[in-house]
Amino acid sequence: MTNVVIFGAPGSGKGTQSELIIKKYGLDHISTGDVLRAEIKNQTELGKTAETYISKGQLVPDDLIIDMLASVLDSKKDSKGVIFDGFPRTIPQGEALDKMLKERGTKVDVVVSLEVEEAELIDRLLKRGQMSGRSDDNFETIKSRLDVYNGQTSPLKQYYTEQEKLAPIHGMGSIENIFAGIEKAIDAVK
Ligand code: ADP
Repeated sequence: MTNVVIFGAPGSGKGTQSELIIKKYGLDHISTGDVLRAEIKNQTELGKTAETYISKGQLVPDDLIIDMLASVLDSKKDSKGVIFDGFPRTIPQGEALDKMLKERGTKVDVVVSLEVEEAELIDRLLKRGQMSGRSDDNFETIKSRLDVYNGQTSPLKQYYTEQEKLAPIHGMGSIENIFAGIEKAIDAVK
């Protein structure tokens, strides 16, 4: 079983690269952003609460996300491995993930960290907003998501460096070249 965390700022290409990873390695994809958007669409209690945070570019509170993740994880019991996309986003989430996986007899094997300059991130997210109409891809919300990333999420790089799991990947350039770097990082732990 190989568990991969795909890590990076909003707009760094986590979703795009996750699709390629899934295709090549047959991993199950858990995207907390996708799960939350489905909850919002279905107007569940969780969805309604989450929407108030997401629309402001803030993180959904850790306890809600961690419970949600635990139940998604339990639905993927016979998995060959999971790619975590958009989780963890805070140190408490990172600690919770380690604990949850340990209880299930497994662990995070590698953290693929897509490194992209901020100006490029803003550019990509504004374009995505125009194309997909994702309501959190507007300038104001993007600004606060990047602030949240820099303040609350990027400390996880240090956390995983200490665990010797961080694989920084240059995230600018062609999708294929970026994926080639990711393949090397995954093959090294597989
Ligand atoms: P992106 O990586 O482009 O910011 P996502 O689709 O991963 O987008 O997430 C969209 C929004 O959902 C985030 O801005 C945040 O509000 C919320 N969210 C997703 N994952 C988490 C998480 N692990 N913890 C807290 N909030 C989350």
